[in-house]
Formats: sequence, C-alpha cells, structure tokens
Amino acid sequence: MYTLAKLPPDDQGCLNILVCELYPDGLICPWEGHNSVLVRLKYLWCRLCRRKWSLKKMLGFTNSKLGWRQLISLVTCWQGKLSPGDIFVATGLAYPTTQRWLERLRSRLPVDISPLSGLLETDQSWPGHKKHGNQALIMGLLDRDGKDIRLAAIPDMEQDSVEGFLDAYAEVGSLIYADAHASHLSLEDVGYGLVLCNHDRGHFGPTNGIEGVWSSFDRFVMRTRDRFLVTRDRFLVRFLPGLLQEFQARTNHSEWFTSPYAYIKKLQVFRFS
Ligand SMILES: [Zn+2]
Repeated sequence: MYTLAKLPPDDQGCLNILVCELYPDGLICPWEGHNSVLVRLKYLWCRLCRRKWSLKKMLGFTNSKLGWRQLISLVTCWQGKLSPGDIFVATGLAYPTTQRWLERLRSRLPVDISPLSGLLETDQSWPGHKKHGNQALIMGLLDRDGKDIRLAAIPDMEQDSVEGFLDAYAEVGSLIYADAHASHLSLEDVGYGLVLCNHDRGHFGPTNGIEGVWSSFDRFVMRTRDRFLVTRDRFLVRFLPGLLQEFQARTNHSEWFTSPYAYIKKLQVFRFS
C-alpha cells in the first residue's frame, strides 16, 4: 500500500514524480518525440517545437483547482480508504470538497457492462436498514472461474426485474447457481442452465461465492460510511451508484488500485495522434 510518507512536500516535486511514473521511458513531446521537454507546474514545454501542452488536460482534470500534491495525496488516501480527517491533514481539503472529489474519482473507474458466461452464481441482497429509509435491493452475479462480478440495483424481486438483470449481464446458455426463490424458477425457460439450492435448509454450498461477495460489499459500505459520519443519514441510497462502481472496480480491475500512479495513468483521456 502506498503512503504519503515518500511524497515530496511541494507541487513541483510531486509533478516530477508523476511524470516519471507516467513516462517510464522518458518524457517526450507528443508531436516529434523530442526529449527536450521542460516540466512546469502549469504545462509541459517542448523546447524544439516551442509548443506547450497540459498534463491536467490529458488526465481529464482541466478545470481542477487541485495542486499536484493534493491530487496525488487524494488518490492515495482514497485507495487506502483513509478517513476524511486524514484526507484533510494530507490535502487541506474540507469535508464537502473531499466528498465531491471522491465521487469524481469513482466516476472515472471502468464500468463493466459485458455479460458474463460459463458457471455463474446469482443472488440478491438488501444492504442498509429499512427502518431508516436507507435500504437498497442489489442483484449480483459472480463468474466462478474468472471471479469477475456484476452488481446492480433492481426495483423488486419480481420475475421481470430478475430476468432483466440476467438478460443484461449473463449470456444465454450459462449455468446459473441460485437459491430457490420463485423468481429464479423460470430461468430455464429463458435459456439458462439452472442449479437451485435452498438457503432455508442450510444448503448454501453452491452459492458460497456470491454470498462472500455480499459480505465484502457490506463491509465496504460500512467502512466507507463510517469514514463519513456527516452523511450517515441515507448514506447508502445517496451514494449507491458510486459505491457499486467502486466496489466492482476494486474487484474486477484491481490493477487500477495498485498505486495512485496506476490510477492516474489510466485517466489519460486526451491523447495526441
Ligand atoms: Zn517537440
């Protein structure tokens, strides 16, 4: 896990490190491949082309007021699941700004919409608390071999909702392990192989994998919530899309979370041809 201990105290030092991480073979200009590039806080400058370009723009942070040290610190804290208090110490960002930034960082993560196939487990979960109006119904799918997951909120346990989710995320012909809920019984009719097990009889075996996903998701939501005491109220409902996106990305795309630079490197939205 990366920490802030090794981060230089100033923006220029942090930018220099970031440039080294983004361009391990050396920074070259995007037009002619010159290696005579100056790294300035606001832009990169090719001395031979006499042209400048913006790293922030390349990373999709065009209008961001964050300094380079703040940006790298923020990503480091977020990846390490630090509290807003620690983020404040590291970046000087107040709680509401931090919250907005975390939403923004989450929204840049990859979204998986391709259907899974093969041996799949599916199940539903109700994280949160009904009595506080803070509960959601989540449906999940786990690829037993690849370990990839798909999670989405569904409105209810009706057959249409369940089949709609599987229609989007499970290829026809897959073998699906599920509990014996009424909405699962007809899955064979729409083209899936089906293995049903009865949770009520302590027969959890075939869906152990997706049950494990629910435990991790619950822990992830609780930890994230506890770090943001101010928004405990309806936390889950309010932040569900971002939480689902982050949790799925941490599971399916762990390579985005190996270091703050790994994440920032993948943000390069603006490429020179
Ligand atoms: Zn050049």
